[in-house]
Amino acid sequence: MTDKPLIDTLTSAGSIFAYLQSLEMSPTQSLGQNFLPDRPLLEALAASTDVTEGSAIIEIGPGLGHLTRVLCKRGSKILAIEKDRRLADTLGERIGEPENLTVVNGDILEVETQVIEDWREGKKCLVIGNLPYYCSSQILIRLYEEWLPIWERCGFLLQEEVVDRLVAKPGSKTYGRLSVLTQLYSRPRKTRKVPPHLFVPKPEVTSAWIVLESLEELPSIPAPQIAHLTGICFGERRKTLLNNLGREFGKERAQEIASGADIDDGRRAESLSPEEFYRLARQIDS
Ligand code: SAM
Repeated sequence: MTDKPLIDTLTSAGSIFAYLQSLEMSPTQSLGQNFLPDRPLLEALAASTDVTEGSAIIEIGPGLGHLTRVLCKRGSKILAIEKDRRLADTLGERIGEPENLTVVNGDILEVETQVIEDWREGKKCLVIGNLPYYCSSQILIRLYEEWLPIWERCGFLLQEEVVDRLVAKPGSKTYGRLSVLTQLYSRPRKTRKVPPHLFVPKPEVTSAWIVLESLEELPSIPAPQIAHLTGICFGERRKTLLNNLGREFGKERAQEIASGADIDDGRRAESLSPEEFYRLARQIDS
């Protein structure tokens, strides 16, 4: 009989804090270290993201490894990228040194794409994580701008407010750049809420799990162009398209772009659907 890996004993706030103390550390707030030790919930989150035996999984911010343990049991191979060296260096031993786990100590915003390419060997990946909230928008932008060909599905725990922004429809207050990018380059699905008391330490906000399905066919306009265009159009939310586009391209060209896309330039960005942004981007491109 094999011994239980250490991670299986870290199930309460008391045991987690005592363990961190043995590493001479405490949760680092600036790295968004709110651990989620609830095994049944983690199993459900993995299931809702369709993690199967064949899955190659990139985990962002494995932390102590509660989710990593679940993923290693379900998937074929896991690449876990953790910024905190103390946690990265000890992750393998905490979860019983599974053979299918590769740990990289690095920043997900800076890690070289080649590291992922070498590891995945051409296989489409799942990207999963209880994300550090302070940089979750930048992580999403990197996934759209640089890594679209790499992933087939993502499953992320985010602040519920951010999840609501990703699925927001035109006309709503929370609709913005990330809604447009998410809805143009994936099919997003909010699957469940996760209350603060399940985390150690307890955050102030409610979280939610979102699944992003990749599209069978990628749009021909690359995401950085849409990111740039939405940056311009949402620059001053209360101003019209003509005003915002005019600042970048000059008034005449702005009128030309909007009319070429068959869009009234007196509208505001928040009323435009993702497809309408796409039409604008095509006009700029042409
Ligand atoms: N996955 C663990 C869990 O569910 O208990 C930990 C999640 S915690 C919310 C976020 C984790 O991301 C922390 O372990 C933190 O150190 C790590 N992290 C923070 N910023 C990061 C970055 N830029 N790149 C990679 N990991 C990061």
